Amino acid sequence: MEELQRNLENISSLHRSIILAGGLFFFYMLEYIIPYMAFRYLKVKHAGVNIFFTITTGVVNMVLAFLIVWCSDLVQAYKFGLLYVFSLPLWAFILGGLLILDLVSAWLIHFLQHKIKWMWRFHLVHHTDTYVDATTANRHHPGESIFRFVFTLLAVLITGAPVWLVLLYQSLSALLSQFNHANISLNPAVDNIISLVLVSPNMHKVHHHYVQPYTDSNYANIFSIWDRLFGTYRRLNKEQLVYGIDTHMDPREHSGIKTLLALPFQEYRIPPGSKFDEADQEQD
Ligand SMILES: [Zn+2]
Repeated sequence: MEELQRNLENISSLHRSIILAGGLFFFYMLEYIIPYMAFRYLKVKHAGVNIFFTITTGVVNMVLAFLIVWCSDLVQAYKFGLLYVFSLPLWAFILGGLLILDLVSAWLIHFLQHKIKWMWRFHLVHHTDTYVDATTANRHHPGESIFRFVFTLLAVLITGAPVWLVLLYQSLSALLSQFNHANISLNPAVDNIISLVLVSPNMHKVHHHYVQPYTDSNYANIFSIWDRLFGTYRRLNKEQLVYGIDTHMDPREHSGIKTLLALPFQEYRIPPGSKFDEADQEQD
C-alpha cells in the first residue's frame, strides 16, 4: 500500500493526460466492436466537437491546479478534514477519500446544475449531445468546468485529501466517465451487477434521455450508491431511450462549437415538462 501511495505521488499531469487519452482511445475503438446504439453519424466529426470541450476542460483544470495543491497542503498541515477524524488504515483512507470526493465534486455539483437555472444553462451543453459516446464524457462548457473545479476544492477542504489522492480520484473519475458514456453494449446481467456499486453504461444512459423525469436521475459519476441513497436512481429500457434534451433537439443548435459556447447566454427555454416555474421565467 505504501508503495502504491508513493507511485501515486509521482503521477504527473503528463501521466494523467496519457491515461485520459489512452482511455478515450480504448473506449472509442470498443464502440466499433460492441456498439450499444446503431448510430448513423460522422463519428470523427462528432468527436471533434467533443474533444474541443475536453481540451477546454483540461486547460481550466491545468490553469487552476495550483489552487488544489495549495488547498490540499493547507489542510494537510493542520490535519483538517473528515479523513482525520479517525485514524484509518491506508485502504480505508483511500476508499473514504474517493467516496467523499465523488459525492461532493461530482454527484453534488451535477445535482445542483440540474436544479439551479443559471447553472443548468451551462450544463445544457453536455445534455444536447444526441449521440452519447465516450467523447461525450468531457463535453463540458468551460463555465461548467469552473463549477466542477470549485466543488473539487470544496471536497478537498471537507476531506483533507492529499494531492496524490485527488490525482487518483481525478484519473479514476475520467476513466469511469468515459466508460459509462461509451456507446458499448455489455451483457445486461453484467451491467446490472456493475451498477450495484459503480455507474454502469446502461445506468448513465438513462440520464441522457431527452425528457424528464429521466434527465433528473442517475447523477452519479463513479459510485452508483449516491443515487440509490438519495432516491435519484432510475431505469429505462434501451428501446425507449432518446438522447438529447427536449428544448434543443435541432441539430443546428448543438453540433457546432461556436453555437455551443454561446448556449448559456441565449434566451431561456422552458422545457415542456417544466421544472422551473413561470414566475422564475419572468425574472429572466
Ligand atoms: Zn446532467
